[in-house]
Formats: sequence, structure tokens, C-alpha cells
Amino acid sequence: MNHPLHAHITDVGPRDGFQAERSFIPTERKIELIDRLVDAGVPRIEATSFVSPRAVPQLADAEKVMRGVDRTRGAVFSALVPNKRGALRAAEAAVDEMVVFVSASESHNRKNVNREIEASLAGFEDVARVADEAAIPVHGAISVAFGCPFEGDVAAARVGEIAYRFQQLGFVGASLGDTTGMATPPLVAAAVAAVREAAPGLGLGLHFHNTRGIGLANVMAGLELGVDSYEGSFGGIGGCPFAPKATGNICTEDLVYLLEEMDIDTGIDLRKLSGIACDVEAAVGHELPGQIMKAGLRLDLHSVDSVRVAEG
Ligand code: ZN
Repeated sequence: MNHPLHAHITDVGPRDGFQAERSFIPTERKIELIDRLVDAGVPRIEATSFVSPRAVPQLADAEKVMRGVDRTRGAVFSALVPNKRGALRAAEAAVDEMVVFVSASESHNRKNVNREIEASLAGFEDVARVADEAAIPVHGAISVAFGCPFEGDVAAARVGEIAYRFQQLGFVGASLGDTTGMATPPLVAAAVAAVREAAPGLGLGLHFHNTRGIGLANVMAGLELGVDSYEGSFGGIGGCPFAPKATGNICTEDLVYLLEEMDIDTGIDLRKLSGIACDVEAAVGHELPGQIMKAGLRLDLHSVDSVRVAEG
């Protein structure tokens, strides 16, 4: 077993989760929930996105969020940047890290940002320059890294090639995104091996969705390969654009529960995190898929008299 002793967790809920919400979440509420993630010990938070406010009205308050959150406690605040303009805004807001994104399949990249993969990679040079001048590290996210809803299987070598380009651009890490929940443990193993071979030394994180119920099984596959960086969203907030009723990101509390039960330290206070997820549910006004937030921890005991019916 190659399991890491410590895992680095990023909560992408404030970006990946909130952007899937139709009704606007007030800026103060976002700031409060993000501050509580910091208080719970979440070391890295994808706080917002510097996309066009017209494209994603939910995150039009990116500057206000970055100005409002508690930057004094050492949490790393990353933000998504789609282009040079976004990078300039993110640098002005003094984010700790920028995240750029490209799809591993041409059809998905075209659908997502209306350009070819090569054009996206070329555009990252501008972002890298802006980030470099501001001394802000850049991570590259690879969408549909384990399968594309338009093209089917994605070759692991393709994912490796993009990671190599990231490394050439001076990025510090790559995050492999299972955007529509098509990853399986064997596909995780293939993609991780391809990235390690093509871009040795590049940081590697895994971003799974639980669309088909095996998000945490894919985390287990990553752990067995020694991968120590994972992204989740509080309460499992987020959606899948191709399956409206399906869930999105794996849930951060459920992920932390699994890791801590395996003696893999996260530095996160799971009870606090679970409480935050319940309040995120209240803030968005609909049920979230997180399970620990509903069931509690395994050793949260119940009094015998509190259960009326024995179930099989
Ligand atoms: Zn996601």
C-alpha cells in the first residue's frame, strides 16, 4: 500500500458548486461560508472565478468575495481564470493561486470555451505571464480527463500530453477533472501513470464527480497510487450539465471522513465541516447529496430508546 500519510484537500464548493446554482447567493453569505471553511482547517479553497460576469452571474462578485474573506489564517485561496483578462482581475484581487482549464477532448473544449485545445493552451501563455509578474503560481485543470460525454473514452496519453504542456508553461500542478463522472479505478490508474510519465515532478490532484456513485472508489484508486491531493465540495454541491438529476463533485465531508478513518491526516475538523455543509444546504434551499452531514460519524451513538422500529 502506497497510501499517503497526509492528504491536501481543496474545497471547490464556492466556485464549482455555487456556479451551478440558479438563484444568487448573497456575497456576505458566500464570505461567511468560506470563512468557516478556513476555520474548519480546510487548507485550500477555490473561492470564485474571474470569468465574465455575464457568463456566470452567480460569480459576478469575485472581487468582493476575495476582498471579504479572511486571508489572515494561512488558507490558500485559488480562483479560476479563463483568459488574460481574468488573470489581470485575479492578480489585482491578489489570489494565492490561479487555475486555468482546458478539456482533454476537442468537442468538450469547443462546447465549453468555443476554441480548440491548442488555442486554449496558447492563451495560457498570456495568463502565465500575468501570473509570473504577480508571482502567483498557476495550476492547470484538465476537464473530461477520464472520458468525454461527446467522444467517449479519452486516451490517457492525451491527458499526459496536456500535463506536459502545463509543465512547459511553468505551472505548478495539474488537476485531473472527472467533469461528467466517467472515471473508474482502472481509468484513474492509467491517467495518473500517463501524467507522471509525461510530466514528472508536476503536482497532481484529482477532482472526481460522484455522478455514477463511485467517486470515493476513485479516490481509493488514487490513494493506492500515492496521490495525496483531492478536490471536493461541501455538501457535494454542484451539478452535472449532462445529467440534470445527477450529483456533481464528491462531497468534501464524505471524503475527509474516508481519509481520517484510514488514518490519513487532513488537518480538517470534520464536525465543523459537516455543520457548514448543513448551512450550505440552507443557503441554496435544496437538498445536497452529502451523506456524513445527514448520518453523522460512525461512532455517533444513539440511545437504545430513541429508535422505535428495528430494521433489517
Ligand atoms: Zn467539479
